[in-house]
Parts: sequence; C-alpha cells; structure tokens
Amino acid sequence: MFKILFYDTKVYDKEFFEEENRKYPMIQIDYLKSELTSNTAELAKGYDAVCAFVNCDVGTDTIDILNQAGIRLILLRCAGFNNVDIKKAQEYNIKVLRVPGYSPEAVAEHAMALALAANRRIHKAYVRVRENDFSLAGMMGFNFYNKTAGIVGTGKIGAAMAKICHGFGMKVIAYDVYQNPQLDFADYVSMDELLKQSDLISLHCPLTDDTYHLIQRETIQKMKDGVILVNTSRGGLVKTNDLIEGIRARKFFAVGLDVYEEEKNNVFENRSDEILETSITARLLSFPNVIITSHQGFFTREALSAISDTTFQNAMSYINNIKSENEVT
Ligand code: NAD
Repeated sequence: MFKILFYDTKVYDKEFFEEENRKYPMIQIDYLKSELTSNTAELAKGYDAVCAFVNCDVGTDTIDILNQAGIRLILLRCAGFNNVDIKKAQEYNIKVLRVPGYSPEAVAEHAMALALAANRRIHKAYVRVRENDFSLAGMMGFNFYNKTAGIVGTGKIGAAMAKICHGFGMKVIAYDVYQNPQLDFADYVSMDELLKQSDLISLHCPLTDDTYHLIQRETIQKMKDGVILVNTSRGGLVKTNDLIEGIRARKFFAVGLDVYEEEKNNVFENRSDEILETSITARLLSFPNVIITSHQGFFTREALSAISDTTFQNAMSYINNIKSENEVT
C-alpha cells in the first residue's frame, strides 16, 4: 500500500479525493486538518508521500523534517510552487509534482462574474431587495458591449477571459511578454496603451519580481477614469494602499478582487468572530463599488475533479517510476 498524508483538508477536498481514490485501491490517504509546516511535518513519519496545498509552508525546515521522516514525494494539489524549497527537495531526492492547469475557465468565469457583479452593483442589490428596498439609486452600471477589455497576461486563464470578453461583444486588447496565437481577435498593445484604453482591466499574469505592484499610483493614474479593475491572479500585483487612494479619487467605477495582499491569514478560514483592527482589506470593503471574494476563482466542481484526478496520476507516475511533465525541477 502506498500511503499519503493529506494536509490542510477541507470537506470538499475529502469529497473529491475519496471519490477518485476508489479507482486506486493501492493508494491509502489519511486526511489531516493541519497545514503542512515545520511543526506538523513530523506527523508524516511512516508515510510515502505528503499532499499539500498552495498555502502550506514547504520551506527548507519542513523539507528537512520530511526527509528525516522518510518522505520521498510531495504532491502539490495546486499549480503554484513558490511555497516549496525545490532546491532542498532535489538535494534529498524528494520529488515534487504539481497540477499545472486544472481549469482556466473556472478562474476566467469568476473574473467575469466579479466584473459584472461590481459593475451592476449586484452585491448592493442583493442586500437591498432582501430589506424590501426596491430603489435603484446608486445601482447604475454601464454596458460591456462595445467597450474595451484589457487583459494583462494571456496564458491559459487570460486567454479564457479574453474569449469571454470577446463573446460579450467587447473590443479585446492585451499585454503580455509573449503573444498567444490563439487570440487572433485581440490586439496586443503596450502596458501604457492598455491602461489608457481599457474600460475593464483584468489581471492574469503571475506574481514575479517584474509584476510585483504592477498596479500602483503611477499605473493607476494612466488608467481611464471610470475603469473597472479585476484581480483574480495574485494579491501582490496590486499595491493596496495606492488602490484605496485611487478609489477615493473616484478613478475606478468598480473593483473586483478574488486575491489581495492581506489574504494569507484569511484564505479559506472563518474569521467572522474576530475584530480585524488594522486590516486594510476592511477599508477596501467599506467602499460601495468594491467586491472581494476569498480566492475562490478555482473553486468549481470541474476544477476540483481535475485537481484530484491529476494528483492521483502524479502519484501513480511516481509509483511506476514514469517521468511526469508535472514534476517541478
Ligand atoms: P499561465 O502561465 O498560463 O499564463 C501566465 C501568462 O502571464 C503567460 O502568458 C506569461 O507570458 C504572462 N506573463 C508573465 N510575465 C508577465 C509580465 N511581466 N507581464 C505580462 N504578462 C506576463 O498561467 P495561468 O494558468 O493563466 O494563471 C495565471 C495566474 O492566475 C497564476 O499565476 C495564478 O497567480 C493565478 N491563479 C489564480 C487562481 C484563483 O483561484 N484565483 C487559480 C489559479 C491561478
């Protein structure tokens, strides 16, 4: 039996992984609620592999302990691996496998949902109508049809978002360091031109040293007045204090965020009983034209099913000693 210790388990993870596990009777998974960190890594003693998520800390110390515990395989059930010390894992000959693109449409559809909800003030309407208030003051939006969508990063998710915007009858412009040949309906422009022309800007590039705080005071000033900004990529792409300044200066018609700089301690946790005294997220939420969701862009049945499917295939390729293109090197 190949034994996997699954960290940071949520009810929905277990549902999808248990279902998929039926196809692989030679694999046994034990589920833990705790995140994988240097404090919990020792629990992996007696297992062959660990399964970790994007918010787990798989840094140097954790890998040291996993190695001592005899772990030879780290299965990441996510695409990103910036939380893993890959070099250290390689030193110990611990393989790291990930799930690269589970459902770009899941995230792109969420980006459009945020754009539409923020534009048409659906979050306000929901609350108002529940209180028998059927007034429309403050609810007026604008048509996306015939407007310009600016897509920053046209990889898998950005391309899916570009296609959705195209389907809405929008003019699509894009900025990327590489051009995606699939998007023959989109015009590639410079970042400055994209900022200047777009009525809707949607961010889909990864967070790197180059893209950190891509959206800050200077880039915000270059945007069209009344623009809608959507970020479903990574919080660090937007400098939150500058965004708040821009919202106060009435630069933005609306803002939709699935990711934000302060999200680390919030993501997937219920903190409704806590008093968040210094939160800049709380400040953002005080604006009527801002919607924030909790890093849920990926969260569809199709995506979770693809994540569990690929994770088991990754485990099987390790067990059968087959080279996998999902291996992180
Ligand atoms: P991808 O690798 O397919 O595409 C990323 C694109 O960004 C590439 O085309 C790349 O050339 C481009 N890029 C790189 N550096 C750039 C720069 N400096 N300026 C402009 N473009 C640049 O990745 P993807 O699968 O489309 O995912 C995009 C991002 O979405 C991920 O990095 C991740 O942060 C985020 N994501 C969010 C969720 C969620 O639940 N909200 C889920 C999955 C992924």
